[in-house]
Amino acid sequence: MTHPLNILFISSEIVPFAKTGGLADVSFALPQAIKELGHEVRAMMPKYGFISERKFGIHEIVRLREMDIPVGDKLQRGSAKASFIVGQKVKVQVYFLENEFYYNRDGLYVDSKTKKDYPDNDERFIFFSKGIIETLKKLGWRPDVIHCNDWQTALVPVYLKTIYNDEPFFKGVKTVLTIHNIGYQGVFPKESFYKSGLPDEIFPQIEHNGKFNFLKAGILYADVITTVSPTYAKEIISDDEIGAGLSDVLKKRKKDIYGILNGVDYSVWSPENDKYIPVPYSIQTIETKYENKKALLRHFGLEYDEKIPVVAQISRLAEQKGFDLVEEIIDEMMKLDIQYIVLGTGEPRYEEMLEKIKKKYPRKVGIHIGFSEELAHLIEAGADIFLMPSRYEPCGLNQMYSLRYGTVPIVRKTGGLADTVEEFNPRTGKGTGFLFEKYSGQELLKALKKALSVYKNRKAWLKLMKNGMMKDFSWTASAKKYVELYQKLVTPTK
Ligand code: ADP
Repeated sequence: MTHPLNILFISSEIVPFAKTGGLADVSFALPQAIKELGHEVRAMMPKYGFISERKFGIHEIVRLREMDIPVGDKLQRGSAKASFIVGQKVKVQVYFLENEFYYNRDGLYVDSKTKKDYPDNDERFIFFSKGIIETLKKLGWRPDVIHCNDWQTALVPVYLKTIYNDEPFFKGVKTVLTIHNIGYQGVFPKESFYKSGLPDEIFPQIEHNGKFNFLKAGILYADVITTVSPTYAKEIISDDEIGAGLSDVLKKRKKDIYGILNGVDYSVWSPENDKYIPVPYSIQTIETKYENKKALLRHFGLEYDEKIPVVAQISRLAEQKGFDLVEEIIDEMMKLDIQYIVLGTGEPRYEEMLEKIKKKYPRKVGIHIGFSEELAHLIEAGADIFLMPSRYEPCGLNQMYSLRYGTVPIVRKTGGLADTVEEFNPRTGKGTGFLFEKYSGQELLKALKKALSVYKNRKAWLKLMKNGMMKDFSWTASAKKYVELYQKLVTPTK
């Protein structure tokens, strides 16, 4: 191995402290996987008010008490505390940036009462970005690479190359910006730019449609940009709809953009040692899966029939996830011999839509509006088919979890879904799921019908399940690719 690197991994959410989506899972697993490869990794996130100091052993660090961080015209007080991400093999040091006013709230980004973004999200993440840099200085720990994630930390590369550019401490520190979902860019009015303290002359370069766009700024300033699957990397550059208006900006950085597939944390997501499911099972004891199916149906008050497959979804209820396709074909779907189960929370229009479906088809449908880790595991273990008809999908985790649980995925051929699911061919017995290409309800329905025709053939279905269960998307392979990239960055070019 080449010499060990110092990596700082910065993220607005990390399991088990705070999670709204896949970013938190990645931020838990990837730093550990990199550390397992022999590098020194530390992480940093905001100390949201709901994160219990007692439960997680979060403690003060005298050196990191009371830093004054300018946001707009004011100086805001920040302190960094510390604890660990505790994995099976390694522990990763985590720093938490604390500020009562910015972070002592119920939500991460959204006010639970109004269901709207906090109006000062610009300040909250300007403060976080500067706080990270100040913390490093006070600690005296110099990372070789700062690995930024999404818009919440995208300003760090911009700060390093502007107002911190002349500080010897940061000389040669490289930045990687990973885009987990380009649909979320951190877009704020021009006035926010002045709160950032960045030099006025860079505004014309980083503005987007007259607005201050954190992600665009990060894309322009990071040394390297990655996204979470090879297909999504291509799509965001070539398709401006998927690139959410930033395709032209990405084109400028094309040679610095890499797609690295997310991994799965199989210590949490494996049916043979899943602490949440009633009966663990493996490829050798696959029939036991059906005990979990019974438990799942009991949970929703639905009847068990081995001939009827359970089709499930676990998802944020957002436009990206393709619920409008389900809405379009729900009556046709309900004519099929299936049961349909959804766990999700998000936009009220989809919550209402799902409640309505439940009311109309009470004997075939189970809906749980809310966030439940436990139920997510039970669904993965108990369902037969997992639906991900996403409009776009940077990587997607649930289709990979599903594969491991023998729950056959039906996915739209986009982003990471296209990179992880292969169409099943009943003649050759190869493949792991079913894909459809065009974003339309009828195409989804066709794929579902194809799956159901295979489900009737027990032998073919078992083969299909086993193909999926044998797939390996562990983090080690992805972590190696990130390390290769870090090494390339820190190696001086001749
Ligand atoms: P995204 O990051 O776009 O939300 P991913 O598939 O990459 O989608 O990751 C979603 C993660 O969040 C998965 O771990 C999934 O199980 C979890 N998840 C989403 N919604 C819920 C929910 N309502 N309850 C429990 N877990 C959920």
